[in-house]
Amino acid sequence: IWSDVLGYVRKNITEVEYHTWFAPVKNLGVQDGSLVLGVRNSFAQEWFRKNYLRLLEDALRSLGAQDPQVSFQVLPAAQDALLLPSDPPPPPSVPAPRAPAPTFTENRKVLNPKYTFENFVVGPNNNLAHAAALAVAESPGKAYNPLFIYGDVGLGKTHLMHAVGHYMLERFPGKRVEYVSTESFTNDLINAIRDDKMTQFRNRYRSVDLLLVDDIQFLAGKERTQEEFFHTFNALYENHKQIILSSDRPPKDIQTLEGRLRSRFEWGLITDIQSPEYETRVAILKMNAEHNRIDIPQEVLELIARQVTSNIRELEGALMRVVAFSSLNNVPFSRAVAAKALSNVFAPQEVKVEMMDVLRQVAAQFNMPPDVIRGSGRVREVVQARQVAQYLIRELTDHSLPEIGQFFGRDHSTVMHAISKVSEQMGKDSELTAAVDLLRRRMKG
Ligand code: ADP
Ligand code: MG
Repeated sequence: IWSDVLGYVRKNITEVEYHTWFAPVKNLGVQDGSLVLGVRNSFAQEWFRKNYLRLLEDALRSLGAQDPQVSFQVLPAAQDALLLPSDPPPPPSVPAPRAPAPTFTENRKVLNPKYTFENFVVGPNNNLAHAAALAVAESPGKAYNPLFIYGDVGLGKTHLMHAVGHYMLERFPGKRVEYVSTESFTNDLINAIRDDKMTQFRNRYRSVDLLLVDDIQFLAGKERTQEEFFHTFNALYENHKQIILSSDRPPKDIQTLEGRLRSRFEWGLITDIQSPEYETRVAILKMNAEHNRIDIPQEVLELIARQVTSNIRELEGALMRVVAFSSLNNVPFSRAVAAKALSNVFAPQEVKVEMMDVLRQVAAQFNMPPDVIRGSGRVREVVQARQVAQYLIRELTDHSLPEIGQFFGRDHSTVMHAISKVSEQMGKDSELTAAVDLLRRRMKG
């Protein structure tokens, strides 16, 4: 029935809309006479309620339902990874995930086909984690064991873990890869204890070549799970099997984690992922757009990248929103349309600009590397670029003088001096004035 509903929906909306909204939906079955659909986040939930409820009811009616009921449920974030384009098959316009070879079908089920190294944009924020993941993928069990990746939510930890899984299965098709969230590990354990199936549980987790355990911070306070995980870890480690762990914080900050586990987590390599800078954000949006065959102008991507600064999941959500907005209203992509599409989600506050972003823009404008501007060079051009950067950072961000000084390895009085110097030259030096104006306009969007 769900595939019939999708068939109906598809005939009534555009391809882009279908892809943006319906492809990721998960059919959760019928509960109390209502068709329950799983959506990715509360924004999608609201969007469906507002825009597609009627259409879905019509679809059900066309299938003979008298009083069709549809409701939406937000899927837990981890379950995202389980969503595969399954029903119906994606249209030819979207590159289908490579068909898995039969021997590891089971593995592929839990690895998100989108989360590959190919689809991972490398930037200064994640290059260490990326390099470590690649090293581990190339020589599992030998490079770093375990590999521990930490960082805030939505920055690509799960993506990198899956990428290693894909890589390994491609290179060594016979290998066993197990991806599990700490929550599922805990639930599996509870079930195994209840059903007296500990042997199966241990066989399952101790016979793999690569074990990916996501969000390990949830081990905190779970003594029995920690105990069992300790043994799983040891069994794998002794057999030189690769273990990759992710967490929102480094091992030393996970409270109530047994010392022996903490020390094991620190045996290998600990690496972090930070928020992406502006250029990386633009690159991610660009890749996303290309991946989905959406032809969207660079300046629109830049506007989105300026508005959403911290979390890549939200960044992708914002792009989806702009795409949906323009396709629903049947208007081409433009900065104005994008600004409108994003205005309710992201408060129409001033666009957030970070110090590093400003520095990069200034560097590009003055044609010199950011590090040179931040360095100690005294050449006139460098000094001027440095002063402009400090001036614009003061104007465009919320950072205090001491913070700006620290960013440049200087004290606050130097920054004050830079600011008054630039203000003084503005108006006198027309070339400088033009450059500053241009930078300001560019960064304000
Ligand atoms: P985390 O596990 O850290 O919460 P995820 O791995 O789930 O974050 O990433 C959130 C979303 O952002 C995913 O859709 C992922 O594909 C995307 N993403 C994260 N980092 C990158 C990157 N460097 N390049 C492309 N997409 C990325
Ligand atoms: Mg994750």
